[in-house]
Amino acid sequence: MKILEKRAALREWRLAHSKESIGFVPTMGALHAGHRSLLERARKENDRVALSIFVNPTQFNSADDFTNYPHAWEQDLAMAADCGVDAVFAPEAIEMYSDATSAYRITESEFSKRLCGAFRPGHFDGVLTVVMKFFQIIHPTRAYFGEKDRQQLELVRGMSRAFFLDVDIVSCPTVREPDGLALSSRNLRLSAQERAVAPELHRVITQVKNRDEAWLKLESSGFRVEYLEDIDDIRYVAAWLGKVRLIDNVPR
Ligand code: AMP
Repeated sequence: MKILEKRAALREWRLAHSKESIGFVPTMGALHAGHRSLLERARKENDRVALSIFVNPTQFNSADDFTNYPHAWEQDLAMAADCGVDAVFAPEAIEMYSDATSAYRITESEFSKRLCGAFRPGHFDGVLTVVMKFFQIIHPTRAYFGEKDRQQLELVRGMSRAFFLDVDIVSCPTVREPDGLALSSRNLRLSAQERAVAPELHRVITQVKNRDEAWLKLESSGFRVEYLEDIDDIRYVAAWLGKVRLIDNVPR
């Protein structure tokens, strides 16, 4: 397994495998079984698998959240090796955002302004920009995204269509704890007490069909609900437990 920090090294790796299919899994590290499911799917469907581990500064709108984002480099590499990853791309921020280019970004002006975008201004610009940059360096055949971040998945799909990108966007089901809590790197920051309450998020949005009732139920369980919206056939939620922001979505 190659560990690459420079764009030039990744390009070289890609060129060496130009006749092969490449499955790409972008992540911010602190890998868990949700990421593993993407890596395993990529492993099955492609000749080569590339994983990026990059805590992307431009998608954070809170300095606190960025600073406190969990890191687990050694465990991440062990999981990557175990999943048969061929190349891990872990660039420094300057490698992705040189001073000369940092004023350029991808902006979506409709869906990205709703749900998470309404509460995290600029977040999806940061996501789409870094994903576009990765795509331009790696030229993956397929790229894998989790349904847990469904708004992100839809926006990446939309960007791919809008710019005629030659990559298949593959969506992967949300991996959950046995109690229903969607796996997330941020779960590591829940206290024991918060962790005990956290599964209520999935239980309530699945079982309480009336939106206002579901909202109230979550608030009375100790969540501070940011949004709870039914759009088309999906129910989306974001809610805080203490200092941790959890998101989820389920079919309606
Ligand atoms: P992150 O490291 O949080 O940016 O996530 C990297 C990728 O893993 C994204 O496509 C996420 O949607 C996906 N992912 C994160 N958590 C889960 C989960 N519990 N189940 C499935 N995919 C996930």
